[in-house]
Amino acid sequence: MKARIKVAIGFGALMLASPLALAEDVRIGVLGLFHPRQFTVSAADGTAIIVHAGQETFVLERSSGAHVAEIRALGSMMVVRVGTHVVHTPKLTATGRASGPADFVLAVPGKIARHYRGTLELKPVSGALVAVVGMDLETAVASVVAAESLSGAPPEALKAQAVAARSYFVAGKGRHSGFDFCDTTRCQFLREPPGRGSAAEAASATRGLVMVYQSQPFAAMYTRSCSGRTRTPVELGLSPGNYPYYSVDCKYCREHPSHWQSRISACDASTVRSSDEAARLKMDRRLGWRTVPSNSFAKRSEGDRVILEGTGEGHGIGLCQSGARAMAEEGASFQQILSHYYPNATVVSLERAASSR
Ligand SMILES: [Zn+2]
Ligand SMILES: [Zn+2]
Repeated sequence: MKARIKVAIGFGALMLASPLALAEDVRIGVLGLFHPRQFTVSAADGTAIIVHAGQETFVLERSSGAHVAEIRALGSMMVVRVGTHVVHTPKLTATGRASGPADFVLAVPGKIARHYRGTLELKPVSGALVAVVGMDLETAVASVVAAESLSGAPPEALKAQAVAARSYFVAGKGRHSGFDFCDTTRCQFLREPPGRGSAAEAASATRGLVMVYQSQPFAAMYTRSCSGRTRTPVELGLSPGNYPYYSVDCKYCREHPSHWQSRISACDASTVRSSDEAARLKMDRRLGWRTVPSNSFAKRSEGDRVILEGTGEGHGIGLCQSGARAMAEEGASFQQILSHYYPNATVVSLERAASSR
């Protein structure tokens, strides 16, 4: 989850570009986890997409003969095949008509296919293909709420999640080169834009709302479940960004802690300790995220192995999704949930945040 914190880059520009703030696109690097060397792009049912590859332009449409573009990395170039046409190009873009957003399906053959709404850019980078989807901020927020929300979360919990996700997108840019965010929980987990449903409703009910601290939006971090108290970045060895966070009581997790246990080698165990987010992430990247699911755990030896026993899931900073769900079930509004987990922060609309400068 949202591990490293950076002070918002480009924040000043956002504040000054007030009428553009809401229309601003978020550039998300997608499917990078698969290190793809090959992609297919096709139009979603009933729509057309325009693919620009080198000097060529293709219209992909289900009803027409050519509806799939196959793209392969070849050194610093890509080979693009549409029907019997083959093009070599260093860059490919796909949009809807009039360069607007398109509904398209991007697939890593044999592995995954996902539907996106936005514009697509593909580039070869050291032998693999990098796919960046430029999507409207609100589409991105709804997609995160759909991917991140806990099952059965009531509308107010989803709205709190939407405001946190939007704040993160607005203030948390600059974590990657070539795009703003990735689609994993290292930034924010993002799959497909939701159709009609509770995630889309939570995004539209909170449209344009972000959290500010000392009148600056901040990249709100959140966690799946805490250990009964939320953590601060400083406690976990992270540098605070432009919001300090507070360690707040989380009644639900205090009463219903989610326990985990894992067994690792003594050598691996020597590299992790409770309250060290960087070490936890390093281990999880190497051995899988279930190795050390949270920052609250104790160690004990068993033969040549070490047993880690802990509670919670995620870094434990900011909004606790399990606690937020319980608060909403007990009748809390999204504003109450946010002010519980983000003390001293204020919820404002992006336009107001922009015009206050
Ligand atoms: Zn990322
Ligand atoms: Zn909690």
